[in-house]
Amino acid sequence: MSVVGGSTGQKVRGILEVPGIDVELAYTDVRGVDDGPTVLLTGGMHGGEYPGIAAAIETARRLDPTQVSGRVFVIHLTNPPAFWDRRMYLNPLDGKNLGRCFPGDPQGSASERMAAVVFGVARQANCWMDLHGGDIHEALVPFSIFSSLGGSELVAAARHLCEIYGIPRVVPSGLPQGQPTVSFDVAAASLGIPAILAESGGVGQIDDASVERHLVGVENVLRHLGVLSGAPAPHGPQVVYSAEERVRSEVQGFWRCLVRPGDTVRAGDPAGVLKDVYGDTLREVAIPRDGEVLYTATSYAIGVGDPLFSVAVP
Ligand SMILES: [Zn+2]
Repeated sequence: MSVVGGSTGQKVRGILEVPGIDVELAYTDVRGVDDGPTVLLTGGMHGGEYPGIAAAIETARRLDPTQVSGRVFVIHLTNPPAFWDRRMYLNPLDGKNLGRCFPGDPQGSASERMAAVVFGVARQANCWMDLHGGDIHEALVPFSIFSSLGGSELVAAARHLCEIYGIPRVVPSGLPQGQPTVSFDVAAASLGIPAILAESGGVGQIDDASVERHLVGVENVLRHLGVLSGAPAPHGPQVVYSAEERVRSEVQGFWRCLVRPGDTVRAGDPAGVLKDVYGDTLREVAIPRDGEVLYTATSYAIGVGDPLFSVAVP
């Protein structure tokens, strides 16, 4: 953020260059008139998750620096190569998932370099909200993820931000097997700042309701942190799950999913079938644990290791 000009009470638009590659990250830097925390907002970490991108852009437009205490730094579109290529999950420049490249490497591949630039901004922030929207081939019920790394106080702060954001389903970032589901939480924990990831939208759509859910959530958190005045809007009932179990495909195949986001499921229930090009069954996939289906892959084409669905576990 050292590249950023502008004094207090100003809103500055600019570009973060990514050294060594032809990628530019557009930002809006809103510097308030009073002291307060610095909040980082990232949209479009995954290029096909449109509502998160639209909400980042709209938040940057709406924020009035004369009404802000502290600073809000918005990266509108964090993964432009994936967005313009309409690429699901992966950055076409190196085939990597940017959301798993943090803290990044300035000498590394394209995604690692991009992650390093974003991490450089996060280094100066007190809080990080990463806005997602269900990818082009993902259907989901809205949920938010809090960073579950970095000590109980930090985890509690992140979890509280999810509650304030207001989306009814909240899950921790770690998998039951102890692996992170994202790596921005590793990065945030190393910086000692609370971080959340919010999912609203899906299947390549850009719809007002999904964008609005993010706009309300971001504003709620900014109010909670004192960046904006006023109290966060009260939210409806919320379920805080203990874990999210993601199921990936062991084979390449033609996928038909038998469950839908929001379904209440039991371990052993049929979840879907993977077939080969002749229609012969390769795998019958079962629900691994009791819980609620958070997302499903809607694509007929599934590769080895691709996520098929996830279940939030109570
Ligand atoms: Zn995503």
